[in-house]
Amino acid sequence: MRVAIAGAGLAGLSCAKYLVDAGYTPIVLERRDVLGGLVAAWKDEEGDWYETGLHVFFGAYPNMLQLFKELGIEDRLQWKEHTLIFNQPEKPGTYSRFDVPDIPAPINVITSILRNNDMLTWEQKIRFAIGLLPAIVRGQKYVEDMDKYSLLEWLRKQGVDERVNSDIFIAASKALTFINPDEVSATVPLTALNRFLRERYGSKVAFLDGSPTERLCQPMVDYITERGGQVRLNAPLKEILLNEDGTVKGFLLRGLDGAPTKF
Ligand SMILES: Cc1cc2nc3c(=O)[nH]c(=O)nc-3n(C[C@H](O)[C@H](O)[C@H](O)COP(=O)(O)OP(=O)(O)OC[C@H]3O[C@@H](n4cnc5c(N)ncnc54)[C@H](O)[C@@H]3O)c2cc1C
Repeated sequence: MRVAIAGAGLAGLSCAKYLVDAGYTPIVLERRDVLGGLVAAWKDEEGDWYETGLHVFFGAYPNMLQLFKELGIEDRLQWKEHTLIFNQPEKPGTYSRFDVPDIPAPINVITSILRNNDMLTWEQKIRFAIGLLPAIVRGQKYVEDMDKYSLLEWLRKQGVDERVNSDIFIAASKALTFINPDEVSATVPLTALNRFLRERYGSKVAFLDGSPTERLCQPMVDYITERGGQVRLNAPLKEILLNEDGTVKGFLLRGLDGAPTKF
């Protein structure tokens, strides 16, 4: 069976990779002239790469890590120390560390919170740890029930004070979701936190050793095309055309730069 996929972002490319593994023939149609979607990167005239932003790979991403393994490119992930480091606005150049020891979860993350002395007072640590208990005990069900609160409302409910919110959670919320704690559902960051609390290396991060386009997307394209699939750039899928009996007649591609629509 041939399968059309709109978009050569990480979802489209990995979908195509697993379709060729299952014996299908995917054709990935990407509307832009670059692979990667939100992780796209470009080379400037001097040969330097520039990217949409920093991309980190968490230990809590089993599917992504499995994909790296299957492509034979795990060595391109550069694992960092298991530490979260915050720069403090009022004390520039002073870094506050949450060092996660190499012991089982969730004791490792809790220890890192308890050991941090310059951002959290003992009262704040205890309040925060108590606030996390329901997530540890009741898991994702509790996390999903918290959708009725914004992250800021949830933190206030736990009695976490405003300074902790501004010093830690504005940064954490923006890093994970690009929006502020008063705008994001508590479920979103708590989902991540919950994974971090359950998995020993869940909050450990790795960086890719180069641009995602070249070092991650291109190997997926090679894998797909070597096994009979296709990846086409500058191919914006406008419509999947059907015959009367519902079978696929063809793909309508929107013309680029004023060019007419193509069949
Ligand atoms: C600055 C930045 C930093 C980030 N940092 C991290 C991070 O550190 N860790 C993390 O896990 N995640 C991070 N993310 C999020 C992560 O990059 C995205 O969740 C992920 O890349 C989304 O992949 P996707 O394939 O679902 O979608 P996209 O990457 O959006 O891919 C969709 C693709 O479809 C194409 N397309 C759309 N419509 C059509 C059409 N009709 N025809 C053909 N093509 C079409 C688009 O051009 C695009 O290439 C970050 C995102 C950004 C922007």
